[in-house]
Amino acid sequence: MAQPPPREMRRYLVIHTDESISEPMPIPDHIHIDILDSELGSRGLRDWDIQIQSRSELGAHGLVTDKSYESRSRKAEKFHGMLLIVSRIAAIQNMPKLPKMMIDSWAGKKTNEITRKLLNLCDISIEDIRTIPAITLKVRLETLVGPSGLVCDIGTSSQEASKNRQKASDRDGLKWIKCKIVSGTTPCAHKSSGSNLVEVFSSHVFTTHFGINPFSCDCGVEFSRDYKLKKHHNRNICGFAPQM
Ligand SMILES: [Zn+2]
Ligand SMILES: [Zn+2]
Repeated sequence: MAQPPPREMRRYLVIHTDESISEPMPIPDHIHIDILDSELGSRGLRDWDIQIQSRSELGAHGLVTDKSYESRSRKAEKFHGMLLIVSRIAAIQNMPKLPKMMIDSWAGKKTNEITRKLLNLCDISIEDIRTIPAITLKVRLETLVGPSGLVCDIGTSSQEASKNRQKASDRDGLKWIKCKIVSGTTPCAHKSSGSNLVEVFSSHVFTTHFGINPFSCDCGVEFSRDYKLKKHHNRNICGFAPQM
């Protein structure tokens, strides 16, 4: 049987800087990756990866990327990013129901910033979460809601929940939400009630107290409420409205 022709494999170095990504540079066959890593590291180049390409087996003209290696610090950076995401998820999971609903439903693309702001109210930084035992984390996050809550106090109605199931699931048995955030020396007097009280209250906290507009268009304009973004898209002035 005839031997298949040897696959042509090539390694290319791609260096990432703040401003740009370099053209892929072929790496000589005899250079070991560890040597390259320390060589580049000693020159202060820590953000790079290696793409391994070979001729496509389908006989197509182009090269396909098989695998890629990354510099140690690039890997560490990604790992750090992953830890932060895990910490954020843990924080949200351990929050009382209302702040959890606020983030899950009304934080738009600003989940990260909003979670940080809520944690700040409890004096917790997202970087410290993995050092806090889950039980302690839960107890500290409980302080967000209650008569002396850091964010709000709530009134519930079990009567209303049983009267109208559909409506009750929207409001989740909540009758009113009272803002307890203190800005400066004056405690906030905002109180939400009505059918979309979680949305209204979320928008109040995120925009008024945190200065964050969670709903943004790709053109860069940001909105406090979901319906305002939808209106912006319906008018389709910027050309970034999602395709239906
Ligand atoms: Zn308020
Ligand atoms: Zn737009």
